[in-house]
Amino acid sequence: MKPQILKDLKKDFEKNKKQFRSFINRQENKLDESDLPLVKKAEKYAWTKVNCLDCANCCKTMSPVYTKEDITRISAHLKMTSAEFKKKWLQFDKKDRTWMNTGRPCQFLDLKTNKCTIYKVRPAACAEFPHLTKMPFKDYLYIHKQNIEYCPATFEMIKKLKSLLAKET
Ligand code: SF4
Ligand code: SF4
Repeated sequence: MKPQILKDLKKDFEKNKKQFRSFINRQENKLDESDLPLVKKAEKYAWTKVNCLDCANCCKTMSPVYTKEDITRISAHLKMTSAEFKKKWLQFDKKDRTWMNTGRPCQFLDLKTNKCTIYKVRPAACAEFPHLTKMPFKDYLYIHKQNIEYCPATFEMIKKLKSLLAKET
């Protein structure tokens, strides 16, 4: 069953879908490095509203990209060779030339607790997700545009950013 946090996200997002998407698009040539404090403020707010352990939607529905370093680090942690690790869990995406999980949810997600069982050595992409304060902001717009429907933290950050920017004008 879908967690409440995702049901709420769907309801809130659907109500103003077009406005959120066009707000994100409008930031392409607006937000730059000087707006980082504002973006950080919105991000901080988002984490007061969202606890990833109530959600885990990214680990359930998406795959991280595994770098060579990730594979070396995680397989060593699991006392496997990189080849064994890849054979057991990963597939190579020829188009993007990246290693990804074969299945969903991620094999390292504990479905009872929503915790990552390899948290300390998890892929860099997982540690950085959902990239809320990454700059230049315009380079991450396409990620926010994708994630706003699936990631409650992204939704809360964009919603807050929208209201903070409205106050400034
Ligand atoms: S990063 Fe986003 S999608 Fe992933 S668990 Fe946290 S709120 Fe959910
Ligand atoms: S490695 Fe951990 S954080 Fe990354 S998708 Fe899997 S369970 Fe989630």
